[in-house]
Amino acid sequence: MKNKTEDTAVQEMVLEGVAASPGIVIGPCFLYLEPFWEPEPRVISRDEIDKEINIFRQSVQKSHDELKKSYQNALDQFGNDVAAIMEMQMSFLEDHIFLQEVEEAIEKKRYDAAYATFTVFRKKKEYFLQMPNEYFRDRAFDIQFLKESIIKNILGKSKNFATSIGKPAVVIARNLSPTDTVQLYQQRVLGLATNMGGKTSHTAIIARSLGVPAVVGLKKMTDLVKTGDTVILDGNNGKVVLNPTPETIETYQEQQRIFHNLEEQLLKESTLETQTQEGKRIYVHANIEFQDEITHLLKVGADGIGLFRTEGIFLNSNDLPSEEKQAEIYSSIAAKMYPRKVIIRTLDIGGDKIISGLLDNKEENPFLGWRAIRFWLDHRAGFMAQLKAILRSNVKGNVQILLPMVSGLGEIYQVRELLEAAKEELRNEGLKFGESIDLGIMIEIPSVVVMADILAREVDFFSIGTNDLVQYTLAVDRGNEKVANLYSHFHPAVLRMIKMTIDAGKQANIPVGMCGEMAGDPLAVPILLAMGFESLSASHSVIPEIKKIIRELSLSDCDALYNSIKDISITSEIIQVVKAFFRERFPDMAHR
Ligand code: PEP
Ligand code: MG
Repeated sequence: MKNKTEDTAVQEMVLEGVAASPGIVIGPCFLYLEPFWEPEPRVISRDEIDKEINIFRQSVQKSHDELKKSYQNALDQFGNDVAAIMEMQMSFLEDHIFLQEVEEAIEKKRYDAAYATFTVFRKKKEYFLQMPNEYFRDRAFDIQFLKESIIKNILGKSKNFATSIGKPAVVIARNLSPTDTVQLYQQRVLGLATNMGGKTSHTAIIARSLGVPAVVGLKKMTDLVKTGDTVILDGNNGKVVLNPTPETIETYQEQQRIFHNLEEQLLKESTLETQTQEGKRIYVHANIEFQDEITHLLKVGADGIGLFRTEGIFLNSNDLPSEEKQAEIYSSIAAKMYPRKVIIRTLDIGGDKIISGLLDNKEENPFLGWRAIRFWLDHRAGFMAQLKAILRSNVKGNVQILLPMVSGLGEIYQVRELLEAAKEELRNEGLKFGESIDLGIMIEIPSVVVMADILAREVDFFSIGTNDLVQYTLAVDRGNEKVANLYSHFHPAVLRMIKMTIDAGKQANIPVGMCGEMAGDPLAVPILLAMGFESLSASHSVIPEIKKIIRELSLSDCDALYNSIKDISITSEIIQVVKAFFRERFPDMAHR
């Protein structure tokens, strides 16, 4: 937090949070404060146990009914993207093990319903907050919302929805439920800023779906503003400026104008085919985690899905999702994307992705442990169900299978056997499926880079996962900020690994794509083109920019850049050269 003027009456203040949804807005703010009920501990007598359990159950039911209503409204007005979020929250309220914990606290600890809910949900929230993976950490905000909703119902309070914010304003709140967010959107809210939340918290996800600029995780911001104060919300950089000076407003107005023009232009061109200046076709695919992202990726003109991370399906399910349920999801994606291709990656849990009930991570070295293909090969039934579901989605032949964390040939042979067994079972069951399906592997462990020439003869394609390849090559934990300065996909060893892989793929005549974050890094694109990539896969939000960059590049310039860095042995020097090239070629984009 920085104070920029001496004037105490209208002091400008810059608050820094998490950039949740892009865009810049300037306007009055509306402080939306929901009362916060923190129940006092109350110990009940044995006779009251049944009554309190009943109160708890009825309150959960009421919260569930309220969510269902919001779900229906959201579905009618905004479609699946937004509604799915309420659906996910409802599934938490259907989790019997979780609810049972509260009933046990009532029965054994003799807490009343409100306090039992408060303590159990708080513990659960803390559990989620400690997870290394951001997506899981952000689920803590769902728990918080559900806790407040149930306690409100136990106490018989009614909810003050933000029914009227008056004129369009930037809404500032402690936390917003999905329902609040949708209701506020209907009043043409300019932007959203919350004390709580992370990049994948639901306020953030909904704001992005609805195209409302948002900043979350602003900590104590609600203590610093009052309704009517002028604010600037910068969703691109995760900042909120309170009481800005006229000069600051002018600066942001200029940035707003540049941002709008660039966005409009990028989106307009994004659906065009992507070719380099020489006319070489480059395919830009999308990485997705949830099926609802399809609307976005079609809007930005993605050529297909280069990576569908299936972990989300397992996370959103109380039990292991059945073959049937998975087949439904994969088939719907394959149908919506047809004739474009869809690469479905088999379950990649372990490491920082923990799914309670399936894999509770108690290992000393989870990133080197029972992760991804290793875990699945030990769970034949679950793996078979997923393989069968993927095969069933391939009726039109546009689906491919991708295996994560492969470290050697043995694993590929094992999967090939299972895949044949899965086909056999489907035949016996008389179910329709696509017999001919490509099987590829993620290149994310150094051992498979070294063996790439041999493995290339055994699989149909490679997809380089730089997020893990960097981690395993440099021995740098991808989630540990203490060593984050050592983590770079521009490290010369990583660049060599990538080149070795693409060369091995070309030699064996199999496609090599990239789906790690490097593929969505504008700075890396010229180098990747020079190395020979024809297919990149990145998050839909960066696709318009990546496509524009490719369209404006000539391969001869990319080659020249690559030749100038390929013998540099120091990461920072490589980055310097790459940045200089980018600044010169794309001055408009350099600020992004
Ligand atoms: C990768 O490792 O680069 C990758 C795409 O997989 P994930 O980020 O899901 O581990
Ligand atoms: Mg990976």
